[in-house]
Amino acid sequence: MTAVESSMEGLPPVIADVPGQEHASAFLARAVQHPRHAYLFTGPEGSGKRLAMRAVAAALLCPDGGCGDCRACRLALGERHSNMLVLEPTGPDILVGRDAGDPNTARWLAGQAYLTPMEPGRKVLVVLQADRLRIEAADVLLKVLEEPPLDTVFVLLSARPDDLPDTIRSRCQEISFPPLSEEFVVESLVREGLDPGRARLACRLAGGNMGRARRLARDDDALAFRDVALEAAATAGQGPPGALAAAEQLTAAAKDFRGRLGEELAAELRPFLDERGKPEEAFRGVVRRLEEQHERRVRRAEREFLDWSLLALAAYWRDLVAASSGGGDDVLINLDRPGALGAERGAVSAVTAAIAMGAVEQARADLADETNLNARLILERLFLRLSSLAGHAV
Ligand SMILES: [Zn+2]
Repeated sequence: MTAVESSMEGLPPVIADVPGQEHASAFLARAVQHPRHAYLFTGPEGSGKRLAMRAVAAALLCPDGGCGDCRACRLALGERHSNMLVLEPTGPDILVGRDAGDPNTARWLAGQAYLTPMEPGRKVLVVLQADRLRIEAADVLLKVLEEPPLDTVFVLLSARPDDLPDTIRSRCQEISFPPLSEEFVVESLVREGLDPGRARLACRLAGGNMGRARRLARDDDALAFRDVALEAAATAGQGPPGALAAAEQLTAAAKDFRGRLGEELAAELRPFLDERGKPEEAFRGVVRRLEEQHERRVRRAEREFLDWSLLALAAYWRDLVAASSGGGDDVLINLDRPGALGAERGAVSAVTAAIAMGAVEQARADLADETNLNARLILERLFLRLSSLAGHAV
């Protein structure tokens, strides 16, 4: 038995399965014994908050406190238990809603909080990306948190807890999920049968985000966005017309990605459909839920692709900074292509590379702000900036 396994002894099985977060797990195991009304899980994307939320829901809804095997556990771990409701932004924000009948809004969740659960026992009400609650929506939620219904546990998740109103935060017990360590992510991927070198590259490109690292490591096409990004940067290096062409290249690639993803998701639904393309009776609920999820993913697809591409560009410049400050190849993010830096090494000063990296990070932040709808403009601005830096390369 390893040290980690022995420290996991006595934990409900579902909680012991939460990866890489021993500290939070130990805390949660105690919490589910005597749950409070509301918890706030904080930590960056990919640190395991959502897995932990599912485990907590299973522990609270399972007759055996989270065995991991029974029907209640399986449903809760799949976010499909009828006593478990998940509210998440369908657009940029979580809205207050017209009334309790307006699905996926704060009023809907608040209404559900006071209803008798579908099955006897507790209810678990979840808010994903809780920092996206509009002010009016947060007020509605706050009222429920101030007069918590019996046997209802709220779990709020947020990567940006500072954007949450203090009134909400003070009503929740906060549990933090620090980023997973590189060693943990790499070891997990290797245990899943992936090549160690590929796993480390994926982990670094994903900035430690486990889910993203897994996708990058598994899918051979997943690294394509990096090639597109580096190609676009090279085009931008040819001057201002090149910069505009680079923005065009990247937007077109993002649109392609969105199209491919749409087709893939449609193929996933096919087994549940009859010959006329209508859901079979027994699968109607599942199909509706999948369709909603797919719609959201497709809507986010272009932004996501652009974010991956920009992350790859930032990594490229970061590697140049590292290389020109005399770091060895092992400090690189793009571990698989130290040679690709060869020509640029020495040709670009560390200062220039750092400025370029900053410009890319700024563009990522602008894109992440979803109220900012003009992605094309953000990219043009970025590539014009990069092309002007190329003039000072030496
Ligand atoms: Zn169970």
